[in-house]
Formats: sequence, structure tokens, C-alpha cells
Amino acid sequence: MQPFPVPPDEIPVGGGWQRGGGPASACVDPADGSTVASIHAADSAQVDAAARAGAAAAADPAWRDLLPHRRARLLARVADAIEDHAEPLALLQTRNTGKTLGETRALVASAAGTFRYYAAALETLEGELPPSRGAHLTMSVHEPIGVVGAITPWNSPIASDAQKIAPALAAGNAVLLKPAEATPLVSLALARLVQDAGVPPALLSVLPGPGTVVGDAISRHPLVGKLAFTGGTTTGRVLGRVAADRIIPVTMELGGKSPTIVCEDSDVEETVAGILYGIFSSTGQSCVAGSRIFLPRRQYGEWASRLIAAATALRLGPGTDPATQVAPLATFAHRDKVAAMVDRAREEGAVVRCGGRIPDDERLSRGAYYLPTLLDGLAPDAKTCQEEIFGPVGVLLPYEDEEDLVAQANSTVYGLACGIWTADYRRALRLARRIEAGTVWINTYKQFSISTPFSGTKESGLGTDKGRTAIRSYQRQKSLYLSLADEPIPWARG
Ligand code: ADP
Repeated sequence: MQPFPVPPDEIPVGGGWQRGGGPASACVDPADGSTVASIHAADSAQVDAAARAGAAAAADPAWRDLLPHRRARLLARVADAIEDHAEPLALLQTRNTGKTLGETRALVASAAGTFRYYAAALETLEGELPPSRGAHLTMSVHEPIGVVGAITPWNSPIASDAQKIAPALAAGNAVLLKPAEATPLVSLALARLVQDAGVPPALLSVLPGPGTVVGDAISRHPLVGKLAFTGGTTTGRVLGRVAADRIIPVTMELGGKSPTIVCEDSDVEETVAGILYGIFSSTGQSCVAGSRIFLPRRQYGEWASRLIAAATALRLGPGTDPATQVAPLATFAHRDKVAAMVDRAREEGAVVRCGGRIPDDERLSRGAYYLPTLLDGLAPDAKTCQEEIFGPVGVLLPYEDEEDLVAQANSTVYGLACGIWTADYRRALRLARRIEAGTVWINTYKQFSISTPFSGTKESGLGTDKGRTAIRSYQRQKSLYLSLADEPIPWARG
């Protein structure tokens, strides 16, 4: 396997690469605890320099006046560069996040696809000529915001970075990207590829470091005109307040506690495979994880037994082993948090039906592993059924009938995703319309497409990512009136 040169301890700030001015932080491989690299965080002077250089580069006629099809060409070149380096990028991300190579390869392919999609969208997006109601031609134009602050989490760095950088650049902006403190490596590698593809370097600065320091400085910088955030709901609220104070737009992809619903006529093989994938792939570290598993009361025992047997058979191991299904969690601290949440579930009265502990396999003793866990015996309003765990922990919940199901499924502050397993498409569509969620999967789960809009409802998010129109969320709309009148405005006549 081709090794990826581990990025040096340098960050791109306003066009040049330099050592971060903040404290150093180790990037650890959670499969064995080894240190992959050590990266210095950005400091506030670097945030300021990046914002100023970004604003200047965005306003430079060389970028501002670049015709859309020419800007699109640069984005397409970034897609090519990502594809040319796909394997080393995937390996780097596996080492920094623990994810399986299968997953990181898919994330790298998704990042390349995202740049290519926004290149195509940019070339083909059209403006509007609203119908005129007077002697004038009215035009609606869309202009870049200037500098965008993009703040991303540790679970899928390159894909979530690309989903913000590509539409923001397509829209004509500069981007200040703040990757999560523990996982900056693939974002730094991506910045080199973006520059090598010919994008003016000051248009993308990558500023790693703690959210409360570097993320906070980005969000409050006067030149930052929009925030694009993916992460937890608690941080989303903080950034929402900053955006409100500054009166700037913010889009947020936040947490979830998504229901996945088994109906009495669900296909057994398809349903078990889909539910397991929904909660245990990415070791449950996914905002859309199907973490509340609703089973019909009359068949509860059979479905629970099948799911428990299948979860117990999942193969744990390092992300680099092609046989691995469940990799380590991204950090040891996060693994301990997940373990503590399962301990709290026990205190709430949960019955641990499988997992519920760190594996005792000697082979896994150096990594941040946790066994795939299924719990039941909890009331739907227990904290474990309401709060996001972001780990390989699913809760089994019985339901009586459709009304009871809809009431339980919707009884959470979140509204991100939902899975429905049934052979009856009428029932599937009826339920899909009644469940409060931004995305509903029917007889499948965790499938994504950059061309399909993605959003959360309730406390799961604000605004829509992906799809052609995401470009518009990185722009300001302006209306132009061009007079077609032959006479001066009559009011001013003497
Ligand atoms: P998670 O729970 O997935 O770690 P967080 O919301 O804590 O999600 O983190 C997501 C991203 O938000 C990370 O890059 C983190 O550093 C950043 N972040 C955390 N707190 C703040 C803050 N107060 N201001 C700006 N960014 C923040």
C-alpha cells in the first residue's frame, strides 16, 4: 500500500504555509495509540491574517471576475487531484480517525465527487429575471459573501470539508476551514491538493485547533460573513448565538437520535443488514446513525434475537484490516465517553442485550475499541433514548401500532434521519411523511448523494447542504432594476 507522506507540521494561512502559533496537539491512531503526527494549532493572529488575505483574494478581480465555467475548471481539477491521491488520502484518514479503509475510500471518492458536482453545478446554474411590474427589467443576481468560516467535526473529515469548501469556492468565496482538533491531517492534505490544482492559495486557509479558541475566533472575525458548521447541537447553539449577534447567515448540520423502524412485513435479511449498517458502521460515529430501533411488539422477541445474534457476530479490528466491520472509535477519550453513557444506561434500568463493554480480546487491547451494543428495557423518555451517544450503541424499543410508533419516533428534540423497513410501499410513504426528519430511507439506510439536498429539522440543523442550490447559500442575492421608461419619473415633474 502506498503510504501517504504525513503532512509536515505546517498550516496554510492566507496563501503561505507556516507553523501554527498555538499549542501542539498529537494526532493519534486509535487502532494502536501510536502518534501519527503532531500539529501546532493556529493562533488568533493567524486567524486574522487568513481572514484578511482571504477577503483580499476573494475581492481580487482575478477571482471575482473569473467566469463560472473557468472557476468550474479549477474545481474539476481539484476533483482529479483528489482521485489521483485517493489511496494515500484514505490511508491517512484511516490512521487519523480509525475508520476502515473501505469507509475512508468511500469518503475520499465522495470528496472528489463533490468537487466535480459543484464544478458542473456552477457551469449550469442560471440566474433569474423576475416578471417585471413596471417599465423596467428586473434581474436577480447572486454574489459571493466574501469569507466563509467552515467548521467541521472529526467523524468524516474529507467529505464534510469538501461539502463546504466546494460550494463555497464555486460561489466565489474564500474559506477558513477549522477541522476538528484531533483530526486535521486529511484537511491539511486536501489544502495542498486544492492549491496544486491552481486555486489561488489565499482562498483556502486551514486553521486547526480547539473549537473554543480557533473556531470561536473564526466565527467572531468581522470579515467572516457566513458560518457553515457540522457538529454537535450544543456547539451549534453557541455558533447560532454568534451569528445572531453579528447578523450573518449560518447553516448547521447537527446531532440526531434517528429512528429506524421495523414493520411486521419487513424482509428479514434486508432489514437486519440495514439496521446493523445504520447503527454500527463507522462504529456508530455518524450524525444519522439509526440509534433507536423500533420493533413491533408482537414480533419483538424474534427481531431482537436476530439483531443481537448479528451484532455479536460483527468483526472488530483495525481499519486497515479488510475483514474489519467495526473499527476503533476515533479517540480514546470518546471511547471512554461512550462507555460512561452505557454505564448511565444501566443506572437508568437498561438491559444490555449484547456488548456493553470494552472487548477483552488481547489483539484489540491497544486500540480505542468498544463492542457493538444493543440495549432494551428502557422507557422512551430515558436519557439513553433521547441523547446522542455517537458510538456503537443502539436501543431496542417496542411499539404497539402505527399511532404509537409515530408518537414515539417523533418524541425527541432531533429530526435528522429515519429508516423504514417494510414490504408495503403505501405504509412506507405514509410513515415517511409523518416522521419528523430531514432524510427518510425506505428499505435502505445511510445512502448519500451530493445531488440530493441534506438537512435536519428541529434541533438537528438549520439550512440545507448538498444539491445545486447549496451554492446559493454561500451567496447574497441582489436585485437590479434597469429602467425601460421613456419618460422621467412623474413625481419629480414641476
Ligand atoms: P463533536 O461533538 O462532534 O465533537 P463539536 O460540536 O464539539 O462536535 O465539534 C465540531 C467542530 O466544532 C470541531 O471542529 C470543534 O473544534 C468545533 N467547535 C467546538 N466548540 C466550538 C466553539 N465554541 N466555537 C466554534 N467552533 C467550535
